[in-house]
Amino acid sequence: MKKSTRIFCLAILIAFSVSSHSVAGDLQAGFATRSITPDFPVSLGGYSARQQANPNVTTTVHDLCEVRTMALLSDGELFVFATLDVCLTPSDLRISCWSAIREAISTEFSRARFEFPQDHYLSAASHTHSGPGGIVKPVDAGTRMYGPIGMGVFSQELYDFVIDSVKSSAIEAIRKLEPVTIGFGLGEETRLSGNRCVSEGPIDPDVFVIKVTKTDGTLLGVVVDFAAHGVCAPDEVMEVSADHAGAFCRNLMARYEGVTVLYLNGAEGDIHPKSPTGSGGHERAADFGRFLADKVQEMLPGIAPYDVKTIFASDFQMDSPPGVGLLGMLRPPKITIGCIAFDKRAILLNVPGEMVCELGFKIKDLAKDRGFEIPAIVGLANEHMGYFVHAEGYTEENKDRWSYEKSLNPWGQRTEGIFVDLFKTALDKANDALDGVNEENNEDF
Ligand SMILES: [Zn+2]
Repeated sequence: MKKSTRIFCLAILIAFSVSSHSVAGDLQAGFATRSITPDFPVSLGGYSARQQANPNVTTTVHDLCEVRTMALLSDGELFVFATLDVCLTPSDLRISCWSAIREAISTEFSRARFEFPQDHYLSAASHTHSGPGGIVKPVDAGTRMYGPIGMGVFSQELYDFVIDSVKSSAIEAIRKLEPVTIGFGLGEETRLSGNRCVSEGPIDPDVFVIKVTKTDGTLLGVVVDFAAHGVCAPDEVMEVSADHAGAFCRNLMARYEGVTVLYLNGAEGDIHPKSPTGSGGHERAADFGRFLADKVQEMLPGIAPYDVKTIFASDFQMDSPPGVGLLGMLRPPKITIGCIAFDKRAILLNVPGEMVCELGFKIKDLAKDRGFEIPAIVGLANEHMGYFVHAEGYTEENKDRWSYEKSLNPWGQRTEGIFVDLFKTALDKANDALDGVNEENNEDF
């Protein structure tokens, strides 16, 4: 065994927690939304070209950026999924939001007992390139490298405002917890994305859907995962916008009264958004939203309730191996991934940055190899450590492809091995905790 490989293995720190319950029908869910668009001037986060704009600050809002939140309660264990219309969510922001929610829970729900460890809190960016930018602290261990590149000047006022919105959204979702059934679906959509690095190259067509229904059968909330960059509005447009994700969520929500929709992004590192009508700018975002909402609306009736026995949520961490170049020197000391599994029926694979779809396929295959039926990559999850390019992207033949993506990465050719090793560890742990659950499950459905 090579020395470097041995160090990696020893350095994998495993801290996992399992929520296990066996009483059918005791799952609860609640949803809420808050604006994260401030009423003061804000620098936009997304395009490095905007950082040279003079100044990169705007008060013009095309459409609201929001945090959309789902709370899940399973046998006393609380899970909160917060999706934010921002380009990326720094690690420091995740910890601050989680701490703020935990503190609010202890004061507002004094009689309740919620287990809410940090790995039960998912902080995911929709990857709009026109959202509030100044949320990366210069001292942030994980994401500081990307602040100056694309996220504008840090603003404490904005940072505090976003934390307050996330906390208030989570607390409302927790207040609204009610008994639900949950179902999982997987569809295919090929019209809305293209590979920006390889002409006619692969895209990830997966449309992953979590459908949450009240006990009377009415729809309560929908979580959708689909891979595409939030770049419909180009860098010269100085307007706040939630781009394709916001357009999609609003479009689908308009079709179902009282329903909240969350958008998670997938392995979108080399995937751009397309409109079947060929439109551009905000109009492309609106078209994307409409077509994806059509797809999800078509899928929803076919998604049956699934009796989840166990929710397994865990973060997995390893020491960051030696890096390459300037970003390698600035790399954070730890790499953290996560997974959230609903028995072996569905699993979210949380990636702290932007994985190209070619590597995303390999990670999803690792999950399928272990019997997880519907895996979904959650890109831009919990922090941002760069772009993650698959091993083939570094061969001589591909030296001119994924150039931009390879330049925003701390580990070079080691990248694929790092994430494959981490996800193998995570998936083996999840598998150990959940094996056998599916077989004894769902005789009612
Ligand atoms: Zn990106």
